[in-house]
Amino acid sequence: MMKKILAVFAHPDDETFGPGGTLAKYAQEGVEIHLLCATRGEKGEWSASAKASAGKQEKIHHIREKELLRSAKILGIKKVEFLNFVDGYLCNSNYHDLAQKIITKIKSFKPQVILTLDRLGISGHLDHIAVSMVTTYSFLKTTDVLKLYYLCLPQKWYDRSLTEYFIYFPEGKKEEEITTRINYQKYWEVRKKSMMQHETQTKDVNSLLKRFNKWPKIDNYILAKHRLKKVILPETDLFSGI
Ligand SMILES: [Zn+2]
Repeated sequence: MMKKILAVFAHPDDETFGPGGTLAKYAQEGVEIHLLCATRGEKGEWSASAKASAGKQEKIHHIREKELLRSAKILGIKKVEFLNFVDGYLCNSNYHDLAQKIITKIKSFKPQVILTLDRLGISGHLDHIAVSMVTTYSFLKTTDVLKLYYLCLPQKWYDRSLTEYFIYFPEGKKEEEITTRINYQKYWEVRKKSMMQHETQTKDVNSLLKRFNKWPKIDNYILAKHRLKKVILPETDLFSGI
């Protein structure tokens, strides 16, 4: 059986600011990983250095698309597909269009595992929340995917500086809610390198790197839905039981 993961996120940078360590690890182990990115990050701000090196005609989303492709290549993601929604506009009139695109991809790619962010989108970003909900719907409307995971932040890693993020930042998950922990220590350097490809987002990259440096090199997940006869939790492998 060819192991396959489908990752579904809202913006260029979510792939590595989120589960970058996990993706690098599984790609290295030979898992085929595809990424659906709902938008091109049109609402992102420019860092000064990225602005200086961009051509006059270049829009932020042209650059962010290229940044994502470079980051994905470093992580070992085999294929990136943009779903052509606009950053900040994943409102409910778009939900079924988004679902249709995810469902079509699930049917052609046939992954065993799907990854997205938790129901509060980790940071509370409305695009993240929309993608999480619609990905869950897409899992339920198809029959073959075996596991759906939500990446989450443990409550015990939460710190005061997060409260100064753009709006109320959800507190994160209790230890007993976390079902799955993926150790990516060996891939920390790869993840860092992929994060640094998002040059337009240098401010976020720097503040996240500070945080990730302190935190254990573990990605935390909630097994949100599954179609296995039996799962033994907690687990340390997205493919356990498959
Ligand atoms: Zn995002």
